[in-house]
Amino acid sequence: MATFDVEYDLVSIGGGGSGKMAAYIAAKEGGLKTALLEKCPETGGSSVFAEGQAAFESSEQKARKVPPTPGMHYPTRAEGYKRYIDYSHKRANPEVARMQAYETAETIDIMKSLGIVYTDVTIYAYEQPTELNSFHRPDGLGAHMQEVLLQATVDAGVDIFTSTAAKELIVEDGKVVGVVAEDADGNTIRIGAKAVVLAGGGFGGNLDMVKENSRFAKNAEHLIYMGPEGNTGDTIQMALAIGADTWEMLPLMIIPVAKGKTLVAHINGGGSQPVLWVNKTGQRYYDEHVALSFADAGNVIASQPDGRSYSIIDQDTVQHLIDDGSDIGLGDFIPYHGKLTGLQTELDEAIAEGEMTWKSDSVADLAKQIGLDPEVFQATVDQYNEFAAKGDDPLFFKDAKYLRPVKTAPFYAIEMRAAILVSTGALHVNGSMQVISVDGQPIAGLYAAGMDAGGLFGDTYNLDVPGSANGFAHASGRVAARHAIKAIKG
Ligand SMILES: Cc1cc2nc3c(=O)[nH]c(=O)nc-3n(C[C@H](O)[C@H](O)[C@H](O)COP(=O)(O)OP(=O)(O)OC[C@H]3O[C@@H](n4cnc5c(N)ncnc54)[C@H](O)[C@@H]3O)c2cc1C
Repeated sequence: MATFDVEYDLVSIGGGGSGKMAAYIAAKEGGLKTALLEKCPETGGSSVFAEGQAAFESSEQKARKVPPTPGMHYPTRAEGYKRYIDYSHKRANPEVARMQAYETAETIDIMKSLGIVYTDVTIYAYEQPTELNSFHRPDGLGAHMQEVLLQATVDAGVDIFTSTAAKELIVEDGKVVGVVAEDADGNTIRIGAKAVVLAGGGFGGNLDMVKENSRFAKNAEHLIYMGPEGNTGDTIQMALAIGADTWEMLPLMIIPVAKGKTLVAHINGGGSQPVLWVNKTGQRYYDEHVALSFADAGNVIASQPDGRSYSIIDQDTVQHLIDDGSDIGLGDFIPYHGKLTGLQTELDEAIAEGEMTWKSDSVADLAKQIGLDPEVFQATVDQYNEFAAKGDDPLFFKDAKYLRPVKTAPFYAIEMRAAILVSTGALHVNGSMQVISVDGQPIAGLYAAGMDAGGLFGDTYNLDVPGSANGFAHASGRVAARHAIKAIKG
């Protein structure tokens, strides 16, 4: 018979959106004695960086009736469900996609009841025709939403232990009955629990797991990690150690970024535009319009030799981005048509400091500085300028309005890499978020939520349904807690 230092009804591991939502519901609705463990000094995880969350047939969508995107409509649950299934080439778990389609709308109502105001319900990247209008943007974005949820969790009576890392699951007669954790002083605590929710936010910060599980094993060393330090896959490993199964561990939420810069930097905004992109060979490699889906663009860049891409712009384009604004936008990181007023200063500073940005009055010299073959690069630029003059791109069929020539010196190159925000493939769960064993049966007492729960995606994060990860985190935490309440109370 296992012995414990302390006992709870439910222990939620991870203080991000999914873990907090699970703990809040367990305590508030179920009256369960609940603990939340967070290995970092502060709760929040990657959820504090999120801009918005997906939901279908929400009260906000119903009240607004039509989205601000001309000719588009708010998606039904069925459309949401089908988009997950189709985008993943049928690799999504139908039970998980169904949960997402039905349960995300309630998150919006819960957050509204806690004081969150939704300022906008639309798509993420304007002019992206394939996106559903699922993106609910809260005031103060994810950071404010997580503050509000944390307060609600405290008010509901949840015991929150920060700087406390879960290490191991305690199993008795095939049922999870507790967790071994370690506090900031290295003390081991054995915590008994009738239910455990794994909400550790995935393995994006664990390079070994990224190499082993994602499609970028070859280029993993060149990926930049931009998520929080705590998301290192511990909770997934704990479940695997007791016989849990996985579902599509491949997908990462991955985004192009100017090396060493933040996502909101104007130099990053400039490098992320669908201008001329070349790889290490000095050649163009894709329709740069892929930038409108950052996950697809991240995949494409991560697949280039050494995981590098160079965005090439001339002085006219720099001025255009400053005066007229960006051609494409990505949520709040790169506002659509937002003027990149800091671009020239940021370019000059990065060049002066030798930060993977180059400038020259000659195309051949620019190539030499970057380390590209000058002849190949010159031929690429000449050909691209011809396409721009004709308004026709017979190589990759990019829309003519994005064919900005490279002809007015000085010319600039910005090195772009792919950055991991979170991993989005994880443990096999059913629609109630119970973790499924390699034998195909639910593991009694064990749930996974958020980025620890796999099944919503195939090999790529789905930006056709913007806000999927954050919407999933909150809905799955709630569903896990409700199932646990029923299982515990009978
Ligand atoms: C910059 C950025 C922007 C994003 N923007 C969006 C967006 O706009 N829309 C969207 O849908 N998604 C977005 N995402 C992704 C989204 O934030 C997350 O996928 C989702 O909110 C994750 O929630 P979670 O609860 O699964 O994990 P997290 O919020 O990451 O929380 C996991 C927590 O678990 C803790 N933990 C890990 N292991 C342990 C352990 N052993 N013991 C105790 N605690 C542990 C971690 O420290 C962390 O605090 C973004 C991510 C980033 C990084």
